[in-house]
Amino acid sequence: RVVGEKILCQRSLQMRDQQRAWQESPEGRNMLEFRSSLPAYREKEAILSAISRNQVLIISGETGCGKTTQLPQFILESEIESVHGAVCNIICTQPRRIAAISVSERVASERGEILGENVGYKVRLEGMRGRDTHLLFCTTGILLRRLIDDRKLKGVTHIIVDEIHERGINEDFLLVVLKDLLPCRPELKLILMSATLDAELFSSYFNDAATMKIPGFTYPVRTHFLEDILEMSGYRLTPDNQIDDYGQERIWKMNKQALRKRKSQISSTIEDALRAADFNDYSMQTRDSLSCWNPDCIGFNLIHYILCNICEHERPGAILVFMTGWDDINALKEKLLTHSVLSDPSRVLLQICHGSMDSLDQRLIFEEPEDGVRKIVLATNIAETSITINDVVFVLDCGKVKGSSYDALNNTPCLLPTWISKVSVQQRRGRAGRVQPGECYHLYPRCVYDAFADHQLPEILRTPLQSLCLQIKSLKLGSISEFLSRALQSPEILAVQNAIEYLKIIGALDENENLTILGRYLTLLPMEPKLGKMLIFGVIFNCLDPILTIVAGLSVRDPFLTPMDKKDLAEEAKSQFSNDYSDHFAILRAYEGWKDAEIEFAGHDYCWKKFLSVQSMRAIDALRMEFFSLVKDIGLVDSNMTCCNTWSYDMHLIRAAICYGLYPGICSVVQKDKSFSLKTTEDGKVFLHSNSVNARQTIIPYPWLVFNEKIKVNSLFIRGSTAVPDSVVLLFGGSISKGDNDGHLKMSPGLLEFFMEPAVADMYQSIRKELENLIQS
Ligand code: ADP
Ligand code: MG
Repeated sequence: RVVGEKILCQRSLQMRDQQRAWQESPEGRNMLEFRSSLPAYREKEAILSAISRNQVLIISGETGCGKTTQLPQFILESEIESVHGAVCNIICTQPRRIAAISVSERVASERGEILGENVGYKVRLEGMRGRDTHLLFCTTGILLRRLIDDRKLKGVTHIIVDEIHERGINEDFLLVVLKDLLPCRPELKLILMSATLDAELFSSYFNDAATMKIPGFTYPVRTHFLEDILEMSGYRLTPDNQIDDYGQERIWKMNKQALRKRKSQISSTIEDALRAADFNDYSMQTRDSLSCWNPDCIGFNLIHYILCNICEHERPGAILVFMTGWDDINALKEKLLTHSVLSDPSRVLLQICHGSMDSLDQRLIFEEPEDGVRKIVLATNIAETSITINDVVFVLDCGKVKGSSYDALNNTPCLLPTWISKVSVQQRRGRAGRVQPGECYHLYPRCVYDAFADHQLPEILRTPLQSLCLQIKSLKLGSISEFLSRALQSPEILAVQNAIEYLKIIGALDENENLTILGRYLTLLPMEPKLGKMLIFGVIFNCLDPILTIVAGLSVRDPFLTPMDKKDLAEEAKSQFSNDYSDHFAILRAYEGWKDAEIEFAGHDYCWKKFLSVQSMRAIDALRMEFFSLVKDIGLVDSNMTCCNTWSYDMHLIRAAICYGLYPGICSVVQKDKSFSLKTTEDGKVFLHSNSVNARQTIIPYPWLVFNEKIKVNSLFIRGSTAVPDSVVLLFGGSISKGDNDGHLKMSPGLLEFFMEPAVADMYQSIRKELENLIQS
């Protein structure tokens, strides 16, 4: 112990010397000067003292005031300077990996250190940390995983949960767990950080915990709504084409029919105006009905007009454009690069920023352009609070976010761009006023803004809860419903029941809601239960290699690209992968083709010709290695075994694995002459998503399709499907009955005939039973 303490002491002194030397160096002094200009820095002493006085502290402050980068640093610095030296172990969680990485890099560089020493990060698949890491930035998911083995978070001194205002499902879950942990760990400090003020809610949740607000400073931001932009472009609004009182009380109080009429009047006024101003490619978006959104209609003319206007007439400063997602960002980028005066790189530096890009691309968005070059960043709502781009003066806000919602009644997730909340509008607008007075262009009328909700619904109330329920079980937190009733806002009972029911159907929970052996393994695999099941199947039935590819393929962004102007070619390229009536096989074939091409250094070329994303291919490559070491780590595969691939080329078996994972996502194929329709037992008719390889078929020579997910966009669509035969469903899917409407799957006529022979039916039943036992054990 004495030797240990001595080493610790030496290390502390070393850290202190290092910290002081940096602070006194010219670069260090520059950095300190920047840091001390941040509003959070001015509150340093008050913050530290509040932390020492309270076990739980809730800190809010405007985005960019220095919460994320400064606060953890204050704690670290003061610990290093303290008499006992740095014995702290600070964990700061971020909802998104991109934020965890970029913030840790920033903090390390502010401290003049190499990342991975005192300051590190850990996200899924990536991490940089060492034995001496005292400040770790990680995703919330990583901390939740740690809790499985380390319920008390041994050795951790401070937990900082960042961006809690976003109310992500992981954060809400973590808060319930931490609330239970605090009394058992009186010396553990919990700090919650949030951009916008909802401090009261969190404070009362933690028994009136202390709150603190960092006074912020932003420059005034001038706002322009759609009607202002129209006027700017020379379109005059007259008294009878005013776009007004759309969201006002009076209108909401009208009866439904009158309301609809008024809304459509306003929509058409907006459309007329946009048409007259030649912005009519944008008209879809201004409509109220969310289902009217058409991703092809990204309002290019309007956005282009504003961008050109800024570039020609306005003072220097970067432009930040908020879009809904990867698809429309890409579409806009492509259009700007091909059809625009803005494609000139000596005038414009065009960059994109979204959650799934890799860390190298991320760094580019912080780069300062050369003099006379205008930086334009196309971003998702990730730039709303988690990432601050320094030099932004102009903001374009499309008013939408791609949000998931969940319809518990129909047990269906929906993924639609939805209008943002007023709080989000405020945030987006605020991004323009960080360095000087700014301008914000809202691409929708003021009356639409008036109708926005104040806050967005927390994620726990709008997503399926299967993974969450499994996590609750793996952390041994007791009854799922009881636990969730203690959340900040509890989800609907029906949503919880649906999730539990699903977990029972897939064999992860038994009748008494206890984890089965399969369930226990699923909790050890950081992926959706259905993907975990496929992996386990791959191990048991010795066909792991292709399953690794498919599971990895479903965990990354869709590798098949469809550029707007080459849609036909892209579809044609994709149809070459469609022989097997399976989107999963298409991924497998695409990956295998790429892998072969890579051997001859022609991977890039291959992707180009086949309209595949190189990044996705690389991500699949990395992920499948990761998943392989994971199945070894959890003891499913012997650690010295290099493969379990005896049956990897048996396509029937792979089909079975896909069915085993995706069940109860199944629908029957009703074949007519030259077309087919799809039916599920609970929803009736469903449709294939247009990007499925099966969508281009006229005949599916199998009676069933299993699918990844069902999504509601106007109608019910299924995404990612594979055709499977009766025998596979019989052995690895749910129960099939001869009758019609009892919630069971109905046998196809051929199978029915077969089953008339009782001995055959018995045989099937007993094989099935044996397989179930095999998998469970
Ligand atoms: P908050 O968490 O309060 O929103 P941050 O701590 O993320 O604020 O950022 C504080 C300031 O640090 C930002 O305003 C920005 O000027 C600067 N900053 C943050 N990250 C970077 C980075 N990667 N590169 C350059 N400056 C950065
Ligand atoms: Mg922050």
